[in-house]
Amino acid sequence: MKTDLIKVQPFSAFELGENIERALEKLKYITPSPIQALMIPAMLAGADVVAQAQTGTGKTAAFALPILAQLNLALQAPQALILAPTRELALQVANEFKQYAQFYNKFRVLPIYGGQPYTTQLKALKQGIHVAVGTPGRIMDHLRRGTLSLASLKWLVLDEADEMLRMGFIDDVSWILEQITQPHQKALLSATLPAPIRRVAKKYLNQPQELTVNAKTLTADLIRQRYWVGDQQNKLNALKRLLESEVYNAIIVFVRTKKETFDLSEQLSHEGYACSALNGDVPQNNREQLVRRFKSGSINILIATDVAARGLDVDRISHVINYDLPFDVEAYTHRIGRTGRAGRQGEAILFITPREKRFLREIESITKCTLEPFTLPSADWLSNQRITQFKEKITNIVDNKDLKDCEALVQAYHAEKNINLSTIAAALVELVHKDKPLWVSELPKPVLDFTKQKSKNKRAIFDNSKEKVQFRIEVGAMHGAKPSQIVGAIANEGGINGRNIGAIQIREHYSFVELPDLSKQIFEKLRQVRVSGQLLKLARVHGSASLENKKYKKKKRSASSFK
Ligand code: ADP
Ligand code: MG
Repeated sequence: MKTDLIKVQPFSAFELGENIERALEKLKYITPSPIQALMIPAMLAGADVVAQAQTGTGKTAAFALPILAQLNLALQAPQALILAPTRELALQVANEFKQYAQFYNKFRVLPIYGGQPYTTQLKALKQGIHVAVGTPGRIMDHLRRGTLSLASLKWLVLDEADEMLRMGFIDDVSWILEQITQPHQKALLSATLPAPIRRVAKKYLNQPQELTVNAKTLTADLIRQRYWVGDQQNKLNALKRLLESEVYNAIIVFVRTKKETFDLSEQLSHEGYACSALNGDVPQNNREQLVRRFKSGSINILIATDVAARGLDVDRISHVINYDLPFDVEAYTHRIGRTGRAGRQGEAILFITPREKRFLREIESITKCTLEPFTLPSADWLSNQRITQFKEKITNIVDNKDLKDCEALVQAYHAEKNINLSTIAAALVELVHKDKPLWVSELPKPVLDFTKQKSKNKRAIFDNSKEKVQFRIEVGAMHGAKPSQIVGAIANEGGINGRNIGAIQIREHYSFVELPDLSKQIFEKLRQVRVSGQLLKLARVHGSASLENKKYKKKKRSASSFK
């Protein structure tokens, strides 16, 4: 069944009962989301269902509402068991049940997850519950101990099935499914339906209805997806510029490693951003506190790994930045699903190196969405922005601070050194902006953009003299320089793939090397590199092909960095 065939009708059409309708009204749920419109009637009719819809599309209510509508409140025994991949998700789902059942008398839902003391869980189980929401491991424990009875079970839900698979829970889930002996209704929910999930569905579900909400309409409607192409070493600056120019509420930046979460978070904190690292090593207590602070706005940027950000449901996330590529398209959809939640508009920006561009096409072909290029603000725009802010700061200080002592100091220094007041002020401006210059230059273009190569034959890149510029370096045979050392130094320091370094001619006192057209930043960097103890002092050889002199001419502001 496809989304466009669904007629939008209000929740009241499902006859969920007065109490639920009141709760939905209070929660400002006006119309059912597409997956809810499909799933609620199917579940009320008693069918097993497999529901595929992206994260943030309201899958929880899609199964929680029909279960609640049919629950026997008088029977204090677990009638529904929801399996979820993480404790965070288990807690979330349990909370949603509570929300929807807030006008029920004595409704009890229990989250059951590892890490929480058994005693707490046992006490609650003894008192009697209607719905259990748990992670597979801890549910298995309780079933083995006989502390959780499934004798009255009427519903079993596998929430975020693809995440459970990804986290290696599929055997545990199968084991749990095999423990249930009496007839019951099953629902499986997932953002994606890879083959192993389909197998589980086929084996354990009873002729399930497959309900799919077209991923395209969802992402295209709610999440604008863009990409920025640049070299690895420019990503940090690109991120900083993005933060200076985008209007955002809260941002999640995805990186690949735990270490990177700390590094990046430190870099951004240093610039005054309210940010924090979120990775699998963050203990649960801290994690919950972090998420609370993120929700409340005392942190605006989280630098996270995929594992750590799983299930994060924070409405105020306006941007998802894929700083490092996700492992696959599924991971990509999960990541970007952290934004565009609850009907809000979201932004997803993917950082990608020229080498990784293939992944872009993969995303586009699987999600059936076209990603637009993301343009960083121009150097002029950024400079103006920084200058304007700086002026505002000065005005603010002049207006509000007592500057008597500072003025006396400046006057004394002025008299002592006989330096103009404006020169002193200029020096102070420089001092204040040492780490973040007011005048910035454009970020270098990617060293080599494969997509611009018309020829599919990579050799063309080496053979095409148009692509190469000849440089002289001040190290030669007399210094003991070897081609391998030169290639190594240039490749490592300049971030240039060794394969793109062309012919090297070693002379007595100096050498020639052919390199791709270099960005100014890399050019300056390579000038400072040493081989055999000699500074390379890289210099273009005049008359060399595709020489773009103007690029290297010192501009007035050449001293300012690329920050
Ligand atoms: P999923 O499980 O598909 O990732 P969730 O069930 O977590 O999505 O829902 C995402 C958000 O949307 C939640 O904050 C939820 O409260 C909200 N939501 C769900 N259904 C509706 C609805 N019909 N109207 C408004 N908000 C909704
Ligand atoms: Mg969900």
